[in-house]
Amino acid sequence: MKISFHGGVEGVTGSCHLLTGIDSEGAEHKILVDCGMFQAEQMCATKNGDQFEFDAKEIEAVFITHPHADHTGRLPKLMKEGFEGSVYMLEPCLGLTKLVLEDAFHIMSEDAKRCGSSVLYELEDLVEVFERTKTVGYHEQVEIAPGFIALFHEAGHVLGSSYISFQDKDKKVIFSGDIGNDEVPILPDTEPISSADVVVCESTYGGRHHEDRSTRVDKLREEIEQVIKDKATLMIPAFSIERTQELLYEIDLILKDVKTSIPIFLDSPMAIKATDLYRHFNHYLKFDANILQEKDRDFFSFPNLRETLSRDESKTINDTPTPKIIIAGSGMMSGGRIMHHLIRYLPDGKNRLLIIGYQAKGTLGRKIYEGAKKVKIFREEVRVNAQVNAIGSFSAHGDTAKLTKWLQPTDGKIPEKIVLVHGDPEAKELFATHLRHNLKTEVLIPRLKEEIEL
Ligand SMILES: [Zn+2]
Repeated sequence: MKISFHGGVEGVTGSCHLLTGIDSEGAEHKILVDCGMFQAEQMCATKNGDQFEFDAKEIEAVFITHPHADHTGRLPKLMKEGFEGSVYMLEPCLGLTKLVLEDAFHIMSEDAKRCGSSVLYELEDLVEVFERTKTVGYHEQVEIAPGFIALFHEAGHVLGSSYISFQDKDKKVIFSGDIGNDEVPILPDTEPISSADVVVCESTYGGRHHEDRSTRVDKLREEIEQVIKDKATLMIPAFSIERTQELLYEIDLILKDVKTSIPIFLDSPMAIKATDLYRHFNHYLKFDANILQEKDRDFFSFPNLRETLSRDESKTINDTPTPKIIIAGSGMMSGGRIMHHLIRYLPDGKNRLLIIGYQAKGTLGRKIYEGAKKVKIFREEVRVNAQVNAIGSFSAHGDTAKLTKWLQPTDGKIPEKIVLVHGDPEAKELFATHLRHNLKTEVLIPRLKEEIEL
């Protein structure tokens, strides 16, 4: 077996790993695990345009761990370069991937226009991704070739997310994809690994410790109670997949307790569509035991929730009297409908802004998070008088403790090699040192395009 790394090694985006396995006859087969895009403020300024370092025609199959763009975004480009095999993923993952890739296509086209570059792929390449996709279930064997088998396992990161194991003639390797946080109220726990020779593991929060769920819920409750008391507006910029659904679920539980009526607007077309998929595939989710006893409950919707899909519906939010809660994209305040709400509500000191996700350097979200008192939104100068707070643990990634526990198989020895990907350099170094010390095994940090022989 050999693995080479074509993204997701020098940062957290662009995951794309090429695995070469050997079948029972001794012949080599090449497959990809994920084919994500590099994400930055503008698509045209990234490595997404570079040709793949491998021949797309030689790749026999692609295995997708989960729908996020940094794991799926270059799939259409792979089609354009002549890939002829099948793409495998879970059924709910396919639904979410369609949303993600259509959105990414739209953003890419806009960006290309703005910076006068050509688009990376055409709409027909996007359509081809879905024509080539075959859906599989957890623990359903996919035979790449005789003696070379893939298996999907629950990762607990987002709806329908997986880590994937591959067994060839000689070796077994596991690719983590993204591993979910502990105590996620709506997702099943990450499945423990069985023993393997090598694990390729993400390390986004390999150097961090998350707050627990009760701290997170208490902070959210305080924010809601305060806006009710002040008759003000609470804005929550949220990522469309997973974060929004977890948030809705927690708000639902809090409001039942608080027993006050306050309108909650879900003002993001993508989040509304993603939430519909969560409802549709709710048999893939796992709820708290006491909630499960309430029969026929439509999780994520409650009397006060208003989904404003169209622009006109969205405008009605302005006329709705306070108090009110607005959940809107984008999560890093780098576009989307949240921008209009920020212009309207940030200048009033009574209002509140709650940040629940990672804010990348250079984004408006980061500036506000770091305490800017004045920001520019659509060429307009906006005063930040609203109360700004952040909750750290609404994160869809496991922290150091979670990942370390997951890397220890329930049925045998620690993997001979752990390969760290998908993390900022400091996080990877910290996590590598931690693992070498605690698990007493070899830990590698590969560079972009490097090949490792297993
Ligand atoms: Zn992810």
